[in-house]
Amino acid sequence: MAPRVFFQPAADKNAAGNLDRTVFRLQDLESLALRGVITEELAVRWQAEAGSRLLGFWGTRRNRRPTWERMDPGDVVLFFAKGQIFQLGRVVGTAHSPKLAGELWGKSGGAEFEFIYALRALTYVDLQMEAAQRAAGLPATFQVRTLHDIKEGKEEGDLGHNARVLALPELAGAYLASDDELARVRAFQALGLGHSAPRSRASYRLAVASLEQRSDSEASATASTTRRYRRSAAVQAIVLDRANGQCEGIECGGMPSGLSRSGRPFLDVDHAVDLALGGRDHPSNAVALCPNCHAVKTRGVDAEQRRAAYARRAMALHAREMGPA
Ligand SMILES: [Zn+2]
Repeated sequence: MAPRVFFQPAADKNAAGNLDRTVFRLQDLESLALRGVITEELAVRWQAEAGSRLLGFWGTRRNRRPTWERMDPGDVVLFFAKGQIFQLGRVVGTAHSPKLAGELWGKSGGAEFEFIYALRALTYVDLQMEAAQRAAGLPATFQVRTLHDIKEGKEEGDLGHNARVLALPELAGAYLASDDELARVRAFQALGLGHSAPRSRASYRLAVASLEQRSDSEASATASTTRRYRRSAAVQAIVLDRANGQCEGIECGGMPSGLSRSGRPFLDVDHAVDLALGGRDHPSNAVALCPNCHAVKTRGVDAEQRRAAYARRAMALHAREMGPA
C-alpha cells in the first residue's frame, strides 16, 4: 500500500517553539526510556522501526484523533506554515501519552498534544502548499487547518466539517522516491509541481566544503587543465543541486517545460563574473540558467549591467544555502 501523506499545519505561536524542541532537534529514545517517560518496549520498537535512537516528535489534539489513528509507519508528514511546506518527515509510530507530551512540550503542551507521532528522515523541503494542494486535488480555496491526510483511493466524501479525503499516492511517491534526484524531479513534473523536488541544504554545504578543501590542496600545485575541468564539474553539480530544477535567472520569464534528451531540466551553469574577468570558480559566483536567461545574460544589450546583478544574485543564493536551516 502506498504511504499516506499528511499535511501538518505548524504556524501558530506555540508551533514555532515546539518545532524547535522536537522536530528541528531530535530526542534520544534511550534517554526517554531511562527516565521512564516511555516504556523500554516502545523505545526498542521505535528504534528498530527507525534504525536510529534519535527521533523527532509531534503531537495533535484530541479532536484530531481519528486522523491520527490512520497514521502508519512509513507515512509522510509535511509541515507547513504561511503557505510553504518546509519540513518532511516519515512516521515511525504513534503513541497516546500525556506523559511524553508533558516531557516534550511542558505542562500546557502536555495536556493538549497527547496524541503523539514519532518521526524519522526529517528533511528540509521548500514547496508551495498551493502546488501540493493542487497535486492532491484539493481546491485552492480549501484551507488545511489541522492534521489532514490524503488517502489512497477515490474521493470519499466528508470526514468532518470540511475535511475531504482525496487520492494521491503519487504525491507520496514523489517525495519518497529515493536519493535519485532525477527520479524525484520527474515525479514532481508528472504531478505538475514544476521541476523542484525536496532536497537538503546539508548536502550542499558538504559539497561546498569538499570543493573548498580540494581547492586549498590544489592551490600549491600547478593547476592543470584536467584539474580545472574537474573542479568546474563539481561547481556545476553543486549549483544544479541548489537550483533544484528551477532557473535562477533574474526576471526569468519561464523555463522550457519538459526535460532535455539527457532527462534533465533545461539548465546551464554559468559564471556570474567570467573566470577570464577574474571571477571565482565557486558556487557563490555561478548560477543555473534556462536557455532564455542564459541568452539574455551573455548576449543581451545590457549584459554589462547584468553581470553585477548576477554577481549579487549568485552570492545571495549561495548564502541562503550556507545560512541556518
Ligand atoms: Zn530563466
